[in-house]
Amino acid sequence: MGEPICQVCGEGEETIEHLMFFCTIAKEVWRLAPVQWDGIEDRRGNFNTWWSELMEASSRKEGQQHQTLTVNILWQLWKARNEKIFNNKSRNPFDIVQKAHLEWIEYTEVQGTGKLASRQETSASNEEAPGDTTNSNTMTIIVEVSQQKETKTMGIGIVATKDKVHAAWAMKDKSTGDTLLDYAAALKLVLCKITEKHWPAVHLLVSSAHMVRMLRNNKTTDIRLFAQLEDIHMFKALFMSCSFSLVANQCNRLGRRISKYATRLAQDEEYLSPLCQMTQL
Ligand SMILES: [Zn+2]
Repeated sequence: MGEPICQVCGEGEETIEHLMFFCTIAKEVWRLAPVQWDGIEDRRGNFNTWWSELMEASSRKEGQQHQTLTVNILWQLWKARNEKIFNNKSRNPFDIVQKAHLEWIEYTEVQGTGKLASRQETSASNEEAPGDTTNSNTMTIIVEVSQQKETKTMGIGIVATKDKVHAAWAMKDKSTGDTLLDYAAALKLVLCKITEKHWPAVHLLVSSAHMVRMLRNNKTTDIRLFAQLEDIHMFKALFMSCSFSLVANQCNRLGRRISKYATRLAQDEEYLSPLCQMTQL
């Protein structure tokens, strides 16, 4: 079966390890990046192992700051890959590092004293606790996916609410043609996307009951789905609390509209409140 060929470099299979470390552009980005990870360099062959080590590194001095910068770099690499696939635009490695660095500086400034939840806290409260997953600090995120069979794309509609709508995104990605696989890939993208916002607690509303069950008991016989689930759980570790439940049908109309709209996009769109553009959808 195998992974598709990487469209950024045209060599190598498009695995997460390839995109993040071994693709020509990724290699250059890491060479330029102002962050070095002694000891975990060798673990790059397996993204999950590398990621676990990165998460553990936060207990070291300055570990959390380096970690945030590293996550920003990963996110910029992902955006560069999408730019190439959807708009055929190549971003240069220096710009990628600059962008990640700038966002990291903005983030640390916002944090002020640098009070971040410790990673130990993160993994402890990360366990699924159905029925008691939200509190007044929780950002509720509605995720809706629309597949477009002819163009083999999917549109992802994301709406973040806490009392009112705070942000929404319309994103596009390749569709596998399989509903569950697409949904899992979309959730991964969403988690990756919302780490940018640094919301400590998030509750994701999912419109597939099957998906919610799988996220809770982590059981599937499909190896591709299993790999996606592992990635989702890895991204979950970035939040103090992250949970999933089934969305009530009447609540996700906006999400569904955005996801349909997103299938036609040339590039991802973001709407932050006051959301003037969203009334157009
Ligand atoms: Zn590549």
